[in-house]
Amino acid sequence: MPEKSEIIIKSLVVGEFMVNTYIVACITSGIGIIIDPAGEVDRIRAEVDNAGLSIKYILNTHGHGDHVIGNHDLKEMFKAEVCIHGIDDDFFQEPQVMAVSQSELGLCGPPPCNIRLNHGDVINAGGLSIQVIHTPGHTPGSVCYKIADNLFTGDTLFVGAAGRTDLIGGSLDILIESIEAQILPLPKETIIWPGHDYGETPTSTLAREMEENVYITDFIL
Ligand SMILES: [Zn+2]
Ligand SMILES: [Zn+2]
Repeated sequence: MPEKSEIIIKSLVVGEFMVNTYIVACITSGIGIIIDPAGEVDRIRAEVDNAGLSIKYILNTHGHGDHVIGNHDLKEMFKAEVCIHGIDDDFFQEPQVMAVSQSELGLCGPPPCNIRLNHGDVINAGGLSIQVIHTPGHTPGSVCYKIADNLFTGDTLFVGAAGRTDLIGGSLDILIESIEAQILPLPKETIIWPGHDYGETPTSTLAREMEENVYITDFIL
């Protein structure tokens, strides 16, 4: 596993939903991944090419349309494999869910992925070791990805807030349970990289969220 200094993390705010798309790579090998490619694929490609990286996987934190817009084009460009939790892979292909989600977000969900993930899976890319943590609540198959002491939380946990639970498949009780059972036990110095920049700062630490995030301080602690 590379040291912190051997991992590159580039964050781009992408698309009209202003999703944080992350490019994460191992400096030594130049091999990397993209988390939640939210569109603007030429801009993402330019970032990858300028850094001289080769992308092995496209990882979605969940199946909402705004987080998966670039899946198809970037998969073709980079010959990368698209990974999403098996539950969201199934959920967003149910015709009724597809219709409701499209009316909620005005966007189509993801096409079927290449690799269906489960809780506890570890994905290796160059020197990166990416741990899959199932955190349902925002959607049934939402996950966080942990790479060294970085946690990519998608729409499960934001800086100072948490994801919506009023969209199809959402549940506040389940979301709180996920944060309590899967995120709070992680080391306090874990860096939180959220799916949207809704907070006072783009990133945070678990220690700070345990002090300031009402979803943790009011609902759990
Ligand atoms: Zn979402
Ligand atoms: Zn989102």
